[in-house]
Formats: sequence, structure tokens, C-alpha cells
Amino acid sequence: MSDAPDDSVRTIPDPAGEVVELCRELIRFDTSNYGDGSGPGERKAAEHVATLLDEVGIESTLIEDSPGRTSVVARWGGTEGDGLLLHGHLDVVPAAAEDWQVGPFSGEVQDGYVWGRGAVDMKDFDAMLLSIVRDRQRTGRIPSRPITLCFTADEEAGGHQGAQVIVEDHPELLEGCTEAVGEVGGFSATVRGRRVYLIEAAEKGMAWMRLTARGRAGHGSMINRENAVTSLAAAVARIGAYEWPVRLTPAMRTLLAAVGELAGTEATPENAEALVEEFGGAARMMGAVIRNTCNPTMLGGGYKVNVIPTEATAHVDGRFLPGFEDEFFATLATLVGEDVEIDFLSHQQPWETPYDGALVDAMTRSILAEDDEAVVAPYLMSGGTDAKHFRRLGMRSYGFAPLRLPADLDFTALFHGVDERVPVDALEFGARVFDRFLDDV
Ligand SMILES: [Zn+2]
Repeated sequence: MSDAPDDSVRTIPDPAGEVVELCRELIRFDTSNYGDGSGPGERKAAEHVATLLDEVGIESTLIEDSPGRTSVVARWGGTEGDGLLLHGHLDVVPAAAEDWQVGPFSGEVQDGYVWGRGAVDMKDFDAMLLSIVRDRQRTGRIPSRPITLCFTADEEAGGHQGAQVIVEDHPELLEGCTEAVGEVGGFSATVRGRRVYLIEAAEKGMAWMRLTARGRAGHGSMINRENAVTSLAAAVARIGAYEWPVRLTPAMRTLLAAVGELAGTEATPENAEALVEEFGGAARMMGAVIRNTCNPTMLGGGYKVNVIPTEATAHVDGRFLPGFEDEFFATLATLVGEDVEIDFLSHQQPWETPYDGALVDAMTRSILAEDDEAVVAPYLMSGGTDAKHFRRLGMRSYGFAPLRLPADLDFTALFHGVDERVPVDALEFGARVFDRFLDDV
């Protein structure tokens, strides 16, 4: 027995109290995902998360399909209404330490930032969730709505060892969840001096393809009109040079209308490109979500300079908008032509959740409560996340990991980038916003 005050029971909420320390701790677990099963895995980080939950009396289940590739699922909250899934991934993409100013797995705090691989993708949000959940347990502020917390393995390689395993083999753990909130959204981008918070309401689909051209082998010195390298190169050049037309889905129409208002002009498909430029550094990503895209990424063929090979191959990375799949594949078939064969290596569906309803209202209110100058709008993300797996169970999905960011920070470049880091005050802001959001759902 001790008379010392018990820190585990408090009455004054402090949802951001642990967020920075928890983020640093999570970064220090190297959970690099090389995509070939060779990495250190997520088990140590998953066990750490389970311990953090256990410390405040929340039981969790570790899910592991192959050794070391561990996800954590915990049921929390009450029994009123439909379930809400809050999910974050524990793995990160690898980091080449020699390129970094600090050790990528050091979790150092410098110049007002937490540095390290995962600082924005997405141990920041994992830490916010843990800080909030622990604080709410300690202060008796448990949401009445049933909440499922999910910290997954393998998101960076498609989620096959993580979210997909949970969805396919343990759907009972997600029973009752009708809505899901995860990455990549809720961060601010500055447009004309105003912070625009982007809530992810849609993701592009993905088609990774191998193109194969076959021809007639022969001597490099002779006439050959069935040269596989020539037909492949022509197809690749047509794909690479093609200007995909602007196509706006509902999320991007809503966002560009908001940007148009800030820029003093009405948004139209014709000025979509110009409005996207208002995002500065984030325009790289935004420019890719107002159209389908297809980029050649690998080339192969031949083995000697004077031998025409029978075969040449290329890989292309295609990304298509929800609602524009048919147009994408029809255009691609024309660009590739008849002589070149297409094999699909990976094919993922795009999705879009209507930007409406109580959850969207709660996200908007919670941001405005912490940043009353904010503009809140939906957007479509160029890549894919675990949301695509959870959506198979019929959940409405959003990306909402709130961060108030400095206007001059090139945030989208930090994803998978060198010197990945997150402002300390943005982490604390995010925890406060998300805590308010939980009051409201
Ligand atoms: Zn991520």
C-alpha cells in the first residue's frame, strides 16, 4: 500500500498528454515493410500497443497470419448505436539511414518536430488514438457508441498480412461496424492564407500491369518488321505521353468549389488544373486525383546488342478514379494496341463515400472547435490504404488523422520521404481534435 497519488485515476482530461511520447516510442520499433516478408515484422510494436491498452484495462486480441506479422484488435466503448472502426497501421516503408539528418528510428525531437519513419505515415495517428483512449479510460470518458480499435500489419504492402486477414478470417472482431476512420486525411493545406483541412472520402483504384510484346527473333543487322522491342517501346511511349482528361468525382468537385471560393472564382472542369495549383506542394498529389493516370515504370528485353529478342516486357502503374474505370481500361487498350499483351499483377477497386451524414458533421465541428478559421472539405487520395479491405464489409470510410500544419511545410513529400517528421504541436492539436470528435460520434 502506498499513500502516493495514483496517476492512473485522474479527473481532468488531457487527451494530448502522452501523444508525443507514444509517437516517439512507436517510431523506435523498426517495423519496416519490404514487401517480400524479409522485414522485422510488426509483432514487437503490436505487443507494445496491447500493453498500453492493457494498462488502462482494455483487452485486445493479437492476430497473426504468418510469424511476426501481427495486428491488434480491441473492442472499446459502449453498446449504443452502430459500431465505429478506428484503424491505423503499424508498419512503415523502409528508410535509407544515410540520407537522413537523424536516425530514422530514433524518434528524436528537434526543432519542434518528432522525426522518424512513420512520423506522418502513420505512427502519428496510432499515437493520437492511444493517447486519447488511455486518457478517456483514466477519466471515465468512455464513448457510448461501440468502438473497434485496429492497429494493422502490412498496410504498406497491400494489407494482405494485416487488414485483409482480419476482414477475411476474423470478421467477428469487426461485427457491427458500419463506419471506419483511418488515414490519410484531416491534415491542413494552406490555400490563399487559409487552412483547408482535407478529409479523405475516396481513393483511386490501382492496376499494376505487365505488358509483353512478342515478335520474331533474328540478327540485329537484318530487316525485321516484327521486332518486339520496337512494338513494346511504341506502346510504352503512347502510354507515357497520353494526357488523361480531367474527370471530377463528387469529393473533388466539392473541394475545388471550396478552393474556388477562396480564390474568388467559380470552379469548373476547365480551371480544375489551375485550382489544384493553389495547393503548392500538395498539387503533385492533387493533380493526380482529377484524372486517371498511367505511368510506365519498368522496361526489359533482349540480352545482346546484335540479337533481336522474341519478347520484351514493361511494367506500368495505372490508377483510376471511382466511376471512371471503364474509360480507363478502354483508353488503355487503345494505347497499348493489339500486338501487346496485358497481364494484371494487382488490381484494386477505387471507392468513394458520400461526404455527408453525422460523422462528417462531427469531423467538421471538431476541427472548427480547435481552429475556427478552418475550411473543411473532402478529397480523393491518389493511393490506397487499409480502407479498401474494411470497405468490403460495407463500412463507410473516411481518412481523418487531424494535423494543423505550417503553411510552408511540404507535407505530401514527407510520406515515404527522407526526413519524415511531424510538428509536435500538430500531434497535440490532432489528439485534441480527435478527442472532441469522439465526444460527438
Ligand atoms: Zn499509411
